[in-house]
Amino acid sequence: MSDLEYVTNRDLTNSQGKSSGKIKILKMHGEDAQVEFVCPECGFKKDSRVKWMEPFVNGAGSGQYFLLVCGKCNQKTKILRLKKELKKK
Ligand SMILES: [Zn+2]
Repeated sequence: MSDLEYVTNRDLTNSQGKSSGKIKILKMHGEDAQVEFVCPECGFKKDSRVKWMEPFVNGAGSGQYFLLVCGKCNQKTKILRLKKELKKK
């Protein structure tokens, strides 16, 4: 049995303000995260399994963010964890 730990699905905006990228993160307990990323700057698409730790996951709580580096143009994209996505304890 697997529990959902984190999920997000959003459009990403590039430096010109166009929403041309996408990020999908699915993380089940005890597994690597499944990440679908479309770079908002160059359109490069990458599906990967990512370890749930630095350098991908940074910080904690409401300041937590995910860092993606495009495999083509090397653009770094910071995905802020949304408040509504935080688990209430
Ligand atoms: Zn790129």
